[in-house]
Amino acid sequence: MLAAEFVNTLFDAELPEPSYWESYYPPRDLPPDAIVTRFGPSPTGFLHTGGVYVATLGKNLAHHSGGSYFIRIEDTDQAREVPGSREQFARGFKYFDIESDENESNSKWGPYEQSKRERIYHTYARELLRRDSAYLCFCTREELAQMTEEQNAAKLQTGYYGSWARCRNLSQAEVMSRLEAGKSYTIRFRAPAGPPHAPPGRVEFLDLIRGRIEHQDNTNDVVLLKSSDQLPRLPTYHFAHVVDDTLMRVTVVLRGEEWISSVPVHLQLFNALGFKPIPYAHIAPLMKFDGASRRKLSKRKDNEADVAYYIDSGYPADAVLHYLRGLANSRFAEMTFEESASAALSISECGVAGPIFDLVKLESISREFIAQLPIDEALESLLTWAREHDPELTTVLRGNLPLVRRIFENERNPTVQRKDLAKWNEFRGAYGLYFQELFPPVSDTSDPRFAPVGPEMVVKLAKSFADSYRHEDNKEAWFEQIRRLASEYGFAPTAGQYKKSPESFAGSIGHVSNAIRIALTGLTTSPDLFLVAQNLGEEEVLRRVRALTQPSI
Ligand code: GLU
Repeated sequence: MLAAEFVNTLFDAELPEPSYWESYYPPRDLPPDAIVTRFGPSPTGFLHTGGVYVATLGKNLAHHSGGSYFIRIEDTDQAREVPGSREQFARGFKYFDIESDENESNSKWGPYEQSKRERIYHTYARELLRRDSAYLCFCTREELAQMTEEQNAAKLQTGYYGSWARCRNLSQAEVMSRLEAGKSYTIRFRAPAGPPHAPPGRVEFLDLIRGRIEHQDNTNDVVLLKSSDQLPRLPTYHFAHVVDDTLMRVTVVLRGEEWISSVPVHLQLFNALGFKPIPYAHIAPLMKFDGASRRKLSKRKDNEADVAYYIDSGYPADAVLHYLRGLANSRFAEMTFEESASAALSISECGVAGPIFDLVKLESISREFIAQLPIDEALESLLTWAREHDPELTTVLRGNLPLVRRIFENERNPTVQRKDLAKWNEFRGAYGLYFQELFPPVSDTSDPRFAPVGPEMVVKLAKSFADSYRHEDNKEAWFEQIRRLASEYGFAPTAGQYKKSPESFAGSIGHVSNAIRIALTGLTTSPDLFLVAQNLGEEEVLRRVRALTQPSI
């Protein structure tokens, strides 16, 4: 055991005692069942859809219980930090409304980046050394790698334990001579396990989602503070979790189920530090079908795992959040958007098996969502998206606001509603045709989509339609023009008649309307032609149809 006076020399002489931090971060003055929880992303990659899922759940639970939700950036692995990830996080938090309730200026429990909490971890590392619950380890990276190799070869559990834990019992004199030789060291936890090679113990704990879990107890002397040759001297995840969640007065640790196997060491750490363990809720990961089998939604393989995908394509955040809430608590999938946005989620309704995240399902939810948005909100949401992702579209929209409103009005008319849009980047494809600026008129009369109508007949139909065109505002009267055109050029008035004797006709009325449809919309399936004509206005209808009477080739 190292003498306390010696341990003190390893740290800054001004380093506060634990009691200082414990009163600096007082208990929160909240109702007894208020949930304080946190989301702890690491800036070692982009914000994952699964992260939004857990954070949404956390924020909802905190708010509905009168508690608090905060984000703590877990940046202790500075070597793996990905440049730009913090900015990408900030964008994702804002978009999905999972921003932290707390920050350095409105709360006492910060800072909210672990790299800024270095001194706190040092206080507690020193404390564990003084209590002989930790020790200095001088093993080099190479030695540790070699050890792992040997353990793997011998099919032994990997880790720093038993006779592998070479630095566990170094005397103070041995420690001092290594320090004098300038060796760097980490600080390791002295796991309170049985003697080496004793049968490993089991530990039982309660998970708020899974109930009682029995697990092999921890025997590994995990690293608490990373190497002394790297500054700042930061903690590992295990140590930071226990210290921060205690001092930040978290009441429920919501995190991914991949951490279940670390609970035994976390419980040992709480105990060694004299802290009360915090209840855990381990969330099952979002899954996806890959052929017939399921696998986790993967950062590497799936576009939809990255929140940038939703932001850039323009999925309204509330549609995505509605879907995620339904995956967390299936009851939410039956709710209206409004109900789901304001109802309380519950931890106990979260499933033990990971829910399937299905992009097709999300698309259909998002389609419903956009179709029910009030026109002003739809317009606002579209313009916000376009401002960042499609500046040309922004200009066109701004120049045609009454038309955009009309399009949304049509979208909301129950008799013609098509629910064309699941995301704003589909606006051009579905509605670009209404805008002169975005629509290159069709002038190629031999476009195969006119078949069986040939180029010469296309010109005749277009010319006749344009010459006698009346911009009727009655649907029947408008379509009457197509019927007249069909009969004028010998097309059957119904598809049935054409089918019966194709040789007697130039085609059927369907072929005529197809030609006019292509001229007006550039598409073979389109919104109702009468509506299209109304939205375009007379002049634009004529401009488009006439483009076929002056073939460019
Ligand atoms: N930083 C950890 C991670 O990225 C967070 C785990 C936790 O929430 O405790 O997985």
